Order: sequence, then structure tokens, then C-alpha cells
Amino acid sequence: MDCLFCKIINGDIPSNKVYEDEKILAFYDIAPQTPTHVIIIPKQHITCADEVDETNCLVVGHIFSKIPLIAKELGLEDGYRIINNCKEDGGQTVMHLHFHLLGGKKLGEKIV
Ligand code: 5GP
Ligand code: ZN
Repeated sequence: MDCLFCKIINGDIPSNKVYEDEKILAFYDIAPQTPTHVIIIPKQHITCADEVDETNCLVVGHIFSKIPLIAKELGLEDGYRIINNCKEDGGQTVMHLHFHLLGGKKLGEKIV
């Protein structure tokens, strides 16, 4: 499958890993938008948040169960923001479900 993040999971494209287990991978974004900007993905290919259903939602819970650990390792004790962009109108550019973990400074005005 021609999916950038699947290639990162397979090791075909290198990444700067922050956390990995059998189900998920976290790595630094190549174009950080904040001092700390990490992408968290399921190893299972799920195209986007709109494709999450009863058959594949456990890995989403697994990601969120590990976010506090990842954030602690990154020194984000004062907080952070998690963003998911979904499909075209949501601004998604890589069609493999991912969550942006952003922090390292006091983030600006909220969109929501
Ligand atoms: P999206 O816009 O789909 O929500 O987020 C995709 C993210 O993937 C962007 O923040 C972009 O900088 C990041 N990205 C794109 N290509 C690569 C890559 O080859 N390596 C890494 N580490 N991040 C990438
Ligand atoms: Zn993929």
C-alpha cells in the first residue's frame, strides 16, 4: 500500500521514534508546528477518524492510554494539545489515522 505512515512503521522511511509498542508508534513530526510536535499512529492502517468503527476502535483507546506516558517522557507536564485532522475539509494530508501531540510552550488561541 502506498501509505507514508505505513512505510514509516515498516522502516522503509526513517523516523525519529518517541514511543513504540506492538500496536502503536509515536515519532517526531518532520515539520514541527510547536517546540514539541509528535505524531501518534496505530500500526494497523486506518485511513482516518471517519473510518473508526467497532472493529478497530480499541487501538484508539490504546493510543489515548499511552498519551500521558508519552507526554511525560517529552516533558509536557504543563499540558499539551491533541489534534486530529480528518479528510479534506479537516486538513488531513496523510491518509493514515494520526494524532498530533503538540506542546512545549503555552499554545495560542483555541479553535474550539
Ligand atoms: P496531517 O496534515 O495529515 O494532519 O498531518 C500530517 C503530518 O505528517 C504533517 O504535520 C507533516 O509534517 C507530517 N509528515 C509528513 N511527511 C512526514 C515524514 O516523512 N516524516 C515525518 N516524521 N512526518 C511527516
Ligand atoms: Zn497506512
